[in-house]
Amino acid sequence: MGSTADEFLVASEEKAFDMGHRRIINYNIGKYDAAVERGLSKIINLENTKRKAHAIKWKVMENLDKLLPEFEANFQKRGGKVIWANDAEEANREILNIIKKAGAKTVVKSKSMVTEEIQLNEFLEEHHIESLETDLGEYIVQLLGQKPYHIVTPAMHLSKEDIAKLFHEKFGTPLDFTPQQLTQKARELLREKYVQADVGITGANFLLADTGSIAISENEGNARLSTSFPKIHIAVVGIEKLIPSITDLDLFWPMLSTHGTGQNLTVYNTILSGPRQADETDGPDEMYVVLLDNGRTNLLAQKDQRQALYCIRCGACLNACPVYKNIGGHTYEATYSGPIGSIITPHMAGMEEFKHLSYASSLCGKCTEVCPVKIDIHKMLLLNRRDAVNEMLVTTKEKWGWAFWKKGMLNRKFTDFFSGKTKNFLLRRFFKKTWGHYREMPTVAEKSFSQQYQEKNGFGD
Ligand code: SF4
Repeated sequence: MGSTADEFLVASEEKAFDMGHRRIINYNIGKYDAAVERGLSKIINLENTKRKAHAIKWKVMENLDKLLPEFEANFQKRGGKVIWANDAEEANREILNIIKKAGAKTVVKSKSMVTEEIQLNEFLEEHHIESLETDLGEYIVQLLGQKPYHIVTPAMHLSKEDIAKLFHEKFGTPLDFTPQQLTQKARELLREKYVQADVGITGANFLLADTGSIAISENEGNARLSTSFPKIHIAVVGIEKLIPSITDLDLFWPMLSTHGTGQNLTVYNTILSGPRQADETDGPDEMYVVLLDNGRTNLLAQKDQRQALYCIRCGACLNACPVYKNIGGHTYEATYSGPIGSIITPHMAGMEEFKHLSYASSLCGKCTEVCPVKIDIHKMLLLNRRDAVNEMLVTTKEKWGWAFWKKGMLNRKFTDFFSGKTKNFLLRRFFKKTWGHYREMPTVAEKSFSQQYQEKNGFGD
């Protein structure tokens, strides 16, 4: 078994030359691009708005130690309970305790990348708890036994024919069912589950410190159903999702929706501030927020890369990335794929295992350009590469290669000592694999530029 980096290279090559995959992705991202362009045109001063969003998130990350307890205190005032989880294991254990205490057997889940991160579904399954995804895209990938392909649109890699075939195999629906009919079928199947489930689990797009609330944005209404039918609601949220005030939503909601899907506003935006109160008719008896660290404070400790925590998970950088568009989301083998995943995964899941993702970039800067919170994404990728080198996590071959190159670049006589033939031999011997077999290796001239220049002009350097 090779390293994660080796597997990444093999899977990337396979996907990049899979024409069917490319056709679906180009089509889906093309539709997204057109919608986003329309959505962004409605924001009067986009650059200013992005700067403002960046400044708010900067303030949050610099004051996380004050704002998180503020959120906790305000959430508790209305009867909510906060659980602090250092890692996935702690979060899963606490969630299981709540489920077991309630004697629950079925859980309905709305789309949440953070629960993917802690592998909650797998964990619950091991403990004989049925966990059902209720977001249509998530439901589809769950039926396929796959992970989400994209942080916003989990089934982006599938065509409508793929989905019709899946529903035909699983539920016997006709192969020519339209997307509307397929959605209707999924609705029918899921509706009764909401009523049966004792526990609803969601993520949250934002934590609001001043009101002690969570804000959830969704297009299908499934998160609302998952939080209002079951007796218990558990929200699992990364600590970086905090914003200072409910009034900041007037900026973050449209920024998330325009950059995520091109909508002016997501269809359902819900603010939940605790369990059902005495004078309320709807809502759960108990509500918990699991505040998850799971490596986020490692990133917070990196002064240079801390801004990666400003991310609001809109997915824009994935759709813009030429690498993502070629190799697809699953290839990254990480919960968060694309440029943002390449920055945060090494800090959250281990630099040694995931440092190669920081190299999965052309550094064209498109990701930085589209980011609604102005994260300097391609610079963060370079900083990760720097850290990998400083932590001596590069291969001996690479170390020697750079040392040799540096020596040559600093010493003209040393460079010119080797003939073109030797240089070409060394190039082929050591860089052929890195260069890849779809491109022809460049050929170094027999004489260096300096030698040719001297010969032509008749003077020394
Ligand atoms: S890094 Fe920026 S563009 Fe990428 S998902 Fe996060 S907020 Fe969106």
